[in-house]
Amino acid sequence: MAYLVMKFGGTSVADIKNIRRAAAHVSREVSAGNKICVVVSAMSGTTNQLVNWTNEASTLHDAREYDAVVASGEQVSAGLMAIVLSSMGIPARSFSGWQVPIKTDDAHSSARITGINPKNLLDSMNDGLVCVITGFQGIAPSGRVSTLGRGGSDTSAVAVAAAIKAERCDIYTDVDGVYTADPRIAPKAQRLSRIAFEEMLEMASLGAKVLQIRSVELAMAQKVRLAVRSTFDDPDAEQVGPDGSDHNVPGTLVCEEDEIVEKQIVSGVTMVKGEAKITLRGVKDYPGVAAAVFGALADERVVVDMIVQNASDDGRTTDITFTVPNAEHDKAMKALNATKDRFEYDSISNSKGNAKISVIGVGMRSHAGVASIMFKALANEGINIMLITTSEIKTSVLIEEKYSELAVRSLHTYYGLDKADN
Ligand code: ADP
Ligand code: ASP
Ligand code: MG
Repeated sequence: MAYLVMKFGGTSVADIKNIRRAAAHVSREVSAGNKICVVVSAMSGTTNQLVNWTNEASTLHDAREYDAVVASGEQVSAGLMAIVLSSMGIPARSFSGWQVPIKTDDAHSSARITGINPKNLLDSMNDGLVCVITGFQGIAPSGRVSTLGRGGSDTSAVAVAAAIKAERCDIYTDVDGVYTADPRIAPKAQRLSRIAFEEMLEMASLGAKVLQIRSVELAMAQKVRLAVRSTFDDPDAEQVGPDGSDHNVPGTLVCEEDEIVEKQIVSGVTMVKGEAKITLRGVKDYPGVAAAVFGALADERVVVDMIVQNASDDGRTTDITFTVPNAEHDKAMKALNATKDRFEYDSISNSKGNAKISVIGVGMRSHAGVASIMFKALANEGINIMLITTSEIKTSVLIEEKYSELAVRSLHTYYGLDKADN
């Protein structure tokens, strides 16, 4: 017997037929003697619809009411899943986030989980029930419903897994694992049988939306064994890992780096579209100027991503370039204009419609020349690089958005990640 968390995303609970298939996966694990918490997303498309309605009602709505509206999607799927399970002879009950309770902070619409009391869940499971929990939401200190940001059901699932000390947290989705690139963009992408937490964290934060970033952070911190697997697999199939894997999860296992014997130099290629670039030229250079520029942006809560500062020949002026999401561009420009007196510069230029392309892999720590392959591949396609940033296990470049897909596919080929034609 083990405690297990099974999370089903929007496609997995898109309609009653899909909910029945998801329930059949649950049935298999119950028959194997496990005690189960199921975490569900809203039926696919529902959250988008709810978000649109809140914007249509008023673009300046209260975030607490936004949460009240968008949290409703998961209540529907949790109730339906409990009904379907019961109809199959598997005793089950639904829990809203607040009933668990899943406690969060008060950052409505992007709240963080602050604690989960597992007692209700453990008692129910020990009474023979499957607990079906609404993903994406919890209860704020004020007692009001809060939501965790888009894709937040992954984080709910990992948090529940940590709270009940589950043996594993299985994320059932519409792909059968984590791939070397988004398989919708790079058809030759290959499924990874294992990926290290750190790599998954970089991939999630650099555009691979298969897992929400916070879910990976939490799994890494709490040592939750996390698997990404397909909801479309035959629920009654034998539980074996993909080709060449040494585990029994038919998907990708996200695990500690030292559990991976053969480390790839590059494990993945990702992209994020919709990046705006802002350059301040001829900025008068003195200690504290970067603090003044980025302080002005931070005061307006503008989230800055890539930052590059150049040294000038005479040491008196510098150029500062940074990127922000397109949606934050106007706010950033306004913040810079409003604080003009705090720093001097000659001119400002800006462009929207860029994309950040990244290559990620723990093997980069010990191999030279990984970045130069990236630059060569992009040069061969005639793609200009506007900015470059690196960290220990990733290299990112900013390019024109229209070349994003081409860049991902070409890098995928250059790093030898394409699966063989069959
Ligand atoms: P769910 O609704 O189940 O939470 P999501 O749409 O949030 O599913 O995440 C699954 C999607 O993530 C896939 O359909 C796939 O297109 C996308 N994706 C992006 N990058 C990757 C990757 N590297 N590996 C697998 N899937 C990826
Ligand atoms: N339903 C929410 C969303 O679409 C949460 C989730 O699916 O993870 O973002
Ligand atoms: Mg998701």
